[in-house]
Formats: sequence, structure tokens, C-alpha cells
Amino acid sequence: MVVMKFGGTSVADQSAIERLIAIVRAQRQAEAQQEGGDARGRILVVSALSKVTDRLLGIAANAGAGDIEGARNNLRELRQRHTTVSSVIGDAVPREKVIEFLDREFDELERVVQALGVLREVSPRWLDAIAASGEILSSRIVAAALSSHGLRAEWVDARRAVVTDAEHTAAAPQFPETTSSLMAHVDPPLATGRIAVLGGFVGATREGVTTTLGRGGSDYSAAIIGACLGASEIQIWTDVDGMLTADPRLVPNPHVVPHLSFAEASELAYFGAKVLHPATIQPAVARNIPVRILNSHRPHARGTLITGERPPSGRPLTAIASKTEVSIVSITSTRMLMAHGFLRRLFEVFERWKTAVDVITTSEVTVSVTVDDRRRLPAIVEALSEFAEVDAEHDMAIVCVVGEGLQNDPHLIGQVLQSVGEVEIRLVSQAASRRNVTFVIREADLAHALGRLHQQFFAPEPAPAGFA
Ligand code: ASP
Ligand code: MG
Repeated sequence: MVVMKFGGTSVADQSAIERLIAIVRAQRQAEAQQEGGDARGRILVVSALSKVTDRLLGIAANAGAGDIEGARNNLRELRQRHTTVSSVIGDAVPREKVIEFLDREFDELERVVQALGVLREVSPRWLDAIAASGEILSSRIVAAALSSHGLRAEWVDARRAVVTDAEHTAAAPQFPETTSSLMAHVDPPLATGRIAVLGGFVGATREGVTTTLGRGGSDYSAAIIGACLGASEIQIWTDVDGMLTADPRLVPNPHVVPHLSFAEASELAYFGAKVLHPATIQPAVARNIPVRILNSHRPHARGTLITGERPPSGRPLTAIASKTEVSIVSITSTRMLMAHGFLRRLFEVFERWKTAVDVITTSEVTVSVTVDDRRRLPAIVEALSEFAEVDAEHDMAIVCVVGEGLQNDPHLIGQVLQSVGEVEIRLVSQAASRRNVTFVIREADLAHALGRLHQQFFAPEPAPAGFA
């Protein structure tokens, strides 16, 4: 059984939903041919139409500020957009039913924002109730659209299927309960060869109060559902070809990484690769379910496969991630010499000012760290200055080179650092896992350094046959 997740841009409008239908149809046909009979059921998890969650949160903010008129106007536009998109449902009767459903939902939302606008307060619980409607509506439309195009589908209300705690706006799934409610609500359509369609991002507490899993939570929903039901594969359909070997804004010819280990994907995401947040697919990886990133505009492109382990690729490095607008803070103290407790004292300052550090290097007397959030830096520098000499430098960039090859070839790190040429390298760090090497350079040198690095280790595009 396969779980297919379609992001906001893959359900943005009628033509996007038509592309989705074509993709599902092609997979069903291929499967039916393979099995010599009917295709088995599959599960679709969909995001809200693109930008709708932002709009709904904006409407909640309007209400919270007492701007009921603004909230109403924005709701009217959203109602119009969803009604227009519903024209993708070919048959009149189901289309009318969906439009009635939309109207009921939007009438309800209007009553809610009216009430909240009077109170001028939106609690996290109401924020979730409002934000969740994006996925409830999109999934309902997609389910009817599939059926009207001859692909028998059934809408499953995610609020009945995904059970969470009551941590509104960042709810955590309760796996045992979710497994049993999925079996109750998703198994029946699957057993009769239908497609179960659910909204991502949304769940409900045991008591039935609507929750959401946090922004971008539809990938998480797909992973939770796939893990609970033991899916054979999870497909994340988006609007890019997969994870790239480098940022296309900085490197002229990056290519798609065909296969990543979950650990590699996590390192890359941490330093800027935005396609997918690996934490969200963790439930799937923990159960050894392969996750594939695919492009709904180019369904035949091979995409990127992420698995717990991966076979060697024949290339020493897998990908490069980078992050700009970074500052280096260097803390020097002769008291550090042979002293214990110094690092604790130092990191307490960052903790007190709730600032995360990324790269850390230490020598006997100097500790250097990078931070990407400069807002509290003046206060941090002042606090550190009480016991050390502090120096802050801005406009730096982190380069993170990832590759399982770093584990086996002790010379590789040297080659990586040499490849950037004349560029001054400020900090270097390699984790004990030796899966990545991270270094910090001036932002002004970034494009040049990445270009050279990419040229040496990634170009030209390899033949697909070179990959297992
Ligand atoms: N619609 C939600 C968001 O924009 C969830 C998602 O699309 O993954 O955050
Ligand atoms: Mg998304």
C-alpha cells in the first residue's frame, strides 16, 4: 500500500488537481497491470490549496485584532477560490454536494470569526479550528474530483483518523490510537479497492477537539499514516525534482540526488535544503518505509529516494547545503586553560538569550560558535564579556558537505577544503559520525567556493545507470 502526499502547489487550482488525477491514474494502471487485476487501494494525503493556511491564519489575526470586516472580506475571497476550484469535479451532483459542504464550512467560519472578533482574542484552540479548514476543504474537493474522473475515492475526515495530544498548533500524534482509528476509517475504503483521501496537517484529540500538527505538517501526516498502516512507500509530491546537490541560486548546474540516507537528509535540511524537513518523515524512517520526493509537474522524473540506509553511490559526496547571514562569535579566555565548567557558563549565556548555535569549534583558549539569529547578539556579547574577550563577525556563510564517503576516505576532507581555492576558511568542524564536514567562510566568497566545490565533486551529471 502506497501513501501519496500532495503539497499545496500540487492542489493549487483546477489544472494542478487534474495533474494529480493523471498521476494517480497512471500509478493505478501500472499497478493493475502488474497484479493482473484490480489495483489495490491507496491513500492520498493533501495539503490545503497553496497559500490557504497563511490566509486562514491572517483571518484569525484579523479577528483577534477586532477587524471583523477584514476577516469577512478575506473569507469571501477564500470561499470564491474554493468554489471555483470545485469546477474540477466533473459530475454536477457530487459537485453540488461539495459546494454545499464548502458553504456550510465557510458559514461556520464566519460565525467563528464574528465571535472571536468581538472578544478580540484567538486562543490556540480556535487558531487550530480555523487553520484546519484548509485541509478539510481541499481533501473533500480532491476526493470528489477523483471519483468524478473514474477513480473511486472516499473522503476520510482526518479529525476522525489522526489522534493527537492537546498541544494546539503543534500537536503530537498518539500512535496506538491513531492506528486503531485509521483501521476503522481507512481500511473499509481500501478493502474495496477505493482511494482514501485525507487532509494532512489536521488531527483531533481523543475528545474530538480539532488540532494541527504544526506548519508544514502534511508531510508529517503522511509519515504518521504510512507508519501506522505499514505502507510500502510514501511519496511526497511537490513542485521541485527532489533534493539537489547544491542551491540552484548559487551553483549553475546542480542535479537531483537520486538516493539519500535519512541521516544525510537531516544534515542537509539543517543547513538550508528546504524541500522537506526530515524530522517530519521520522515515523516512516523508523519503520523502514522508503520516502520518495517527486515533482507533480514532471511525474516521470526519478525524484529523490530517502531510506534509513543506502547503497554506495559511487560518488564520494552526496550534496552541499549552505546557509547565509550567519555570525561568528569568538570567545577567548585564558581562564579556560585547564578549567572545568567554562563551557557550561558560556553556553548558559546562549541559553538565557534563547539563541541556538550551529557550528562550534574550540581551541585551548578560544571557543567559536555561529548563530543565525542576530537579534539578541548585543546582549549575549555583553554577558559573555563579563568573563571573556568576545569578538563578533557578521556576513558569514556555513557550507555543509554531506557524504557517506567521508567515513571511508581519510583524504576526502582535505580535498574538500582544498577545492575552494583561495577562499579563507574561518572555522571547520567534522562530527564524529564523519558523515559531513562543515566550514564557515565569508558570505561574499560563497558563490565562488560552492562553484568550485560543485565543479570538482559533482559535475558532470552522472548517468542514471551508475546508481543502484
Ligand atoms: N497547509 C499547512 C501549512 O501550510 C500544512 C502543509 O501544507 O504541510 O503549513
Ligand atoms: Mg509543504
